[in-house]
Amino acid sequence: MPLVLRGRHLGGDLLLTKQAPNQSGNESGNDLMTKIVSLCKRRGFVFQSSEIYGGLKSCYDYGPLGAELKRNIAAEWWRNMVYERDNIVGLDASIMMHPQVWQTSGHLAGFSDPLVDCLNCRERFRADKAPRAEAGSTVNYVQGGKSGGAKLSGAVSPKGYVCPQCGAPTLSEERQFNLMFRTSLGPVDPLTEVARELEGKSLTAAKIREMLEEAAKKNVTYLRPETAQAMFVQFLNVQQSMSMKVPFGIAQVGKSFRNEIVTEHFIFRSCEFEQMEMEFFCEPGTQKEWMNYWRDERMAWYHRYANDKSAFRLRAHEDDELAHYSDECYDVEYRYPWGWGELEGVASRTDYDLSRHAAESGVKLSYFDQQKNDPATGKPGWRYVPYVIEPAAGLTRSVLCFLIDAYAEESGVDAEGETKTRVLLKLHPRLAPYKAAILPLVKKDGQPEMAMELVKEFRRLGINVSYDDKQSIGKRYSRHDEIGTPYCLTIDNDSVKDGTLTLRDRDTAKQVRLPVAEAVAAVKAKLDQ
Ligand code: ATP
Repeated sequence: MPLVLRGRHLGGDLLLTKQAPNQSGNESGNDLMTKIVSLCKRRGFVFQSSEIYGGLKSCYDYGPLGAELKRNIAAEWWRNMVYERDNIVGLDASIMMHPQVWQTSGHLAGFSDPLVDCLNCRERFRADKAPRAEAGSTVNYVQGGKSGGAKLSGAVSPKGYVCPQCGAPTLSEERQFNLMFRTSLGPVDPLTEVARELEGKSLTAAKIREMLEEAAKKNVTYLRPETAQAMFVQFLNVQQSMSMKVPFGIAQVGKSFRNEIVTEHFIFRSCEFEQMEMEFFCEPGTQKEWMNYWRDERMAWYHRYANDKSAFRLRAHEDDELAHYSDECYDVEYRYPWGWGELEGVASRTDYDLSRHAAESGVKLSYFDQQKNDPATGKPGWRYVPYVIEPAAGLTRSVLCFLIDAYAEESGVDAEGETKTRVLLKLHPRLAPYKAAILPLVKKDGQPEMAMELVKEFRRLGINVSYDDKQSIGKRYSRHDEIGTPYCLTIDNDSVKDGTLTLRDRDTAKQVRLPVAEAVAAVKAKLDQ
């Protein structure tokens, strides 16, 4: 099998992480990511966390416009999931939960990735994402992975993978690395306790490790690696307090944390990220029907906001990909610049989670349907453990997906006859940070006052607009194209006299003259698209 080993840095000073080369795309994909990362910083969408101290790997801060974009995506998801349905309610659970939750859910034992070290260049990576070569074949690599090093060759192990960084087949044994962040709750420092016990003793590393684990257990807690478990452990509270009848769902948007071995592609895979998850509880036997429903609903949701619908697809999981408790799963995949990758998982989780939490907590997490006969006895009233369909989307990953989908460049000739490239973000108006920019042509002659009145009118309507009087009108148009503002409303001398203005459309760059009220109506109509 030919190996493509290409160290790819996606550019921009935001990106401190490496891409796993087995997913490498083409150079134009690389260029696109470089442009998007650069636009994100230049225009205030995403910054490297703690940048003035050199940044923190894989941690990002959403700047003024990124915060708006992320909030808008989450708000659209919430509107679609919760506000537009009678049978779905929301939850905002704490990030830290009882450690037993993670024991019961299986995360403590099984939420891990296979970790491998390259003995040649010291790269640490995930074995299951590493490039593959034919087991037993010979591959060439450079000593230490550095240019100018001695040329070496070696046989590929039976597992068939090689180092993604230097291509060497000289790898350590695989070991499982749990992705959960462990921390301790309360004013007890387990390390001090162990340090006291260790003082003056000479012990083996294994014994010290055992003592550390023991001490840490006393007040251990974890940052949640998914938002889903809270919906299972609060199933009864939500069902009873809101008198929910099956089928019903619980939705949540919030932060999750995974100590990923490899973080990659800017905000695609980071250690701290946000999810939008919904657990839909249904009658046993109806899960297939609901799975089809939610799979199609979720695709339709992405299509509603996308420019290029063909860049989204559904992929059914093969049987050997399914978790042991799952009877069906689809991934909504997006065509990222480096290839197809997951955006959302829609999983049929059977009654596994509720049954497990019921067994371990001793609390009956079931539902009693008075209207139905028990299929086992034929008698009226049926108590059962609901089955669950879970559409689990990444919010921060959706930010990246919609940025990629929206990014466009158009070449045209300007008023001076020069060929110029126009960069624009064709964000759906509901996702765009600003819905319109209000631009007084000059900062005098009553124009700023009229523009501010218009801004106030939009604020009264709850529509987020930007008042912008900095630089030339051309530069302002470019700026708003680049941040995805659907309309620019320009106030000039005539506006002050006759109450009309120029409305410029971001996508076509066409301008029309309209009375102010019609321009406001046009912005409102755009939001209903
Ligand atoms: P992947 O295969 O990419 O690791 P996953 O199958 O582990 O994802 P899920 O556990 O199904 O992901 O989580 C649901 C969604 O949460 C994913 O589809 C993705 O959009 C998002 N997500 C998961 N891990 C991360 C991460 N480290 N950074 C950003 N988003 C993530």
